[in-house]
Amino acid sequence: MTPTFEPRLHVAAPDELAGRVIAITGAGSGIGRAVAHACAAHGAEVALLGRTVRKLEGVYDEIVAAGGPEPVIAPLDLERATAREYDAVADAIGARFGRLDGLVHNAGLLGDLSPIEHYDVPLWTRVLHVNVTAAFALTQVLLPQLRAASDASVLFTSSSVGRRGRAYWGAYAVSKFAIEGLAQVLADELSGATRVRVNAINPGATRTAMRRAAYPAEAVESTPLPETITAAYVCLLGPGARGMTGQSVDAQAPAPPPRS
Ligand code: NDP
Repeated sequence: MTPTFEPRLHVAAPDELAGRVIAITGAGSGIGRAVAHACAAHGAEVALLGRTVRKLEGVYDEIVAAGGPEPVIAPLDLERATAREYDAVADAIGARFGRLDGLVHNAGLLGDLSPIEHYDVPLWTRVLHVNVTAAFALTQVLLPQLRAASDASVLFTSSSVGRRGRAYWGAYAVSKFAIEGLAQVLADELSGATRVRVNAINPGATRTAMRRAAYPAEAVESTPLPETITAAYVCLLGPGARGMTGQSVDAQAPAPPPRS
């Protein structure tokens, strides 16, 4: 892997992910839906994880209609799931595919944009739980299957506010710092001894419900559609990024510095 390797510039082969099984959280909408489509379009069998089954069914139908490999739907509410429900997801993936080669922790909760001084404590706990603790718990339960794969990839979803703190981004920003840390710790633990690589990815500003909630006054057309930012995801999940671990990458070119 050269230091100039840029996953977002990778041009994937049509069958780049053929033979791989990839699980994606928050796959029913936004970036998760687009990543599920991109993975299936490049030949992967996908496990669609999410809390709204109706949305997951919609993505399932779209993938099948597009001629992609038949996915599996695994309902999982990351705010409320019990240990048994996490086990059920692992069992469903094992029973259906018998393997797991990729795990994309994409689901996320924005919470509130408010000063730390006034941040609602229960909301803080919910955001940290969905964005961090649930990703940890899901990783833990799926790790045996990932370890068994010959080239497995785990992706945690970060954000620019998870690298440099910004006023009013509260629990969301703190959760993304934690995700960067979780990715580094896990990557270090698994390096050398396993064939599981672990990286964090910052999607960058993308036209989704979360973006609209965070920037209600922003012109919708000013941010790219989720479908246009998936190249880095496909690259990091596929053979092109073999050997790359413990990195934090951008799905889009860095934004130009603000004009003074
Ligand atoms: P959306 O709000 O559009 O989608 C979030 C997804 O997470 C939805 O599928 C949602 O499910 C799911 N989700 C939320 N809570 C839970 C839960 N309790 N259990 C299971 N699933 C849940 O956001 P984006 O697509 O924009 O965000 C995807 C990721 O990218 C997030 O981690 C976000 O932090 C990150 N990100 C996004 C940026 C952007 O500009 N859009 C920029 C930087 C990072 P449901 O549809 O059922 O609500």
